[in-house]
Amino acid sequence: VIKEVADAPEDLQPRPPVVTIMGHVDHGKTSLLDAIRKTKVVSGEAGGITQHIGAYQVTTDSGATLSFLDTPGHAAFTSMRSRGAHVTDIVVLVVAADDAVMPQTVEAINHAKAAKVPMIVAINKIDKHEANPTKVRTDLLQHEVVVEQMSGDVQDVEVSAHTGKGLDELLEAIALQAEILELKANPNRAAQGAVIEAQLDVGRGPVATVLVQNGTLKQGDIFVVGEQYGKVRALINDKGERVKEAGPSVPVEVLGLNGTPEAGDVLNVTETEAQAREIAEYRANTAKEKRAAAGAA
Ligand code: GDP
Repeated sequence: VIKEVADAPEDLQPRPPVVTIMGHVDHGKTSLLDAIRKTKVVSGEAGGITQHIGAYQVTTDSGATLSFLDTPGHAAFTSMRSRGAHVTDIVVLVVAADDAVMPQTVEAINHAKAAKVPMIVAINKIDKHEANPTKVRTDLLQHEVVVEQMSGDVQDVEVSAHTGKGLDELLEAIALQAEILELKANPNRAAQGAVIEAQLDVGRGPVATVLVQNGTLKQGDIFVVGEQYGKVRALINDKGERVKEAGPSVPVEVLGLNGTPEAGDVLNVTETEAQAREIAEYRANTAKEKRAAAGAA
C-alpha cells in the first residue's frame, strides 16, 4: 500500500550504524550495553541521565556516532526480522572468556549469517582469573567464525563490562566496520522507521520507540504505523529531551498515536490524515480477515 520511492544516489548521506548485541545468556549483553552507555555519557551533560527508550546513541572518541538497540537477546532480533524490519547493520557477538561458545552463541552466529549482517566478537569478562580468550577464538573456528587473531576477517576485541577495559576499542571496531559498510540514507524525505518497542503509558497514552531508517521524522508529521496511525505530538530522544526532529538511525519516542503498535511495525509518514487512517484501517481489516480465515480452517 505504501509505494517505495528509491532515493537518487546524490541525495544519500552517511548514516550511523545500528548495532545489536547478541550472545549466550549470562555472557554479559546487558552489562555491556549499560557499560557502553555509561562511559559515553558526558558528565554534566543535561542531567547526565539517559532514559531507557529501547535504543541509544553514543559518540566514539574518534567522533563516530553509533546507535545501539538496547534490547539484548535474540527474540527481538528474530521477531523484527520476521516482521520484515531490518534494523541491524552490525551484530556484536558477546562471548564470555570464562565460558566460550554455548548454544545461544551458535544461534546468534546463525542469525547474523542468515541476515547477512557482519559480526564483531566481544570477548567479555576478560577481568576474570579463569578468562581464556584463546579458547573462545578456537571454539569460534568450529563455527566458521574466523577472528583476526586467527588470521580471519572478523574483528575481535577483549572487553570487560565490569572494569571498562576494551570498551573504547570495541566502539572503534564498530565504527571501522560501519565505514566499510558505507551506510547511507536520505535525510531530506518523508520518514520511514521501525518500532523497537511500544507501550500504553498511563499519562502519555500510546508511546512507541521508533528507529528512523530513512528520511527525517518531524513534530507534526502524519504517519501510519502497522495498523495504527497518528500525528507526531512530541519526539523524545534517548536523553529524555524533547526534540523537533529525528534523522536516519536516530531512535526517538513518538507520542501522538491512536493505538499501540507492535515491535517490528514499520512507520511511514503520509501526506494526509485520511490517507494514514485509510491504510491503517485497511491493514486492520486484512489482519482481521486473515485471523477469521485461520479460525475457520
Ligand atoms: P546477559 O544475560 O548476557 O545480559 O548477561 P548479564 O549482563 O546479565 O551478565 C551476567 C552476569 O555476568 C552478571 O552477574 C554480571 O555482573 C556478570 N558480568 C557481566 N560482564 C562481566 C565482566 O566483564 N566481568 C565480570 N567479572 N562479570 C561480568
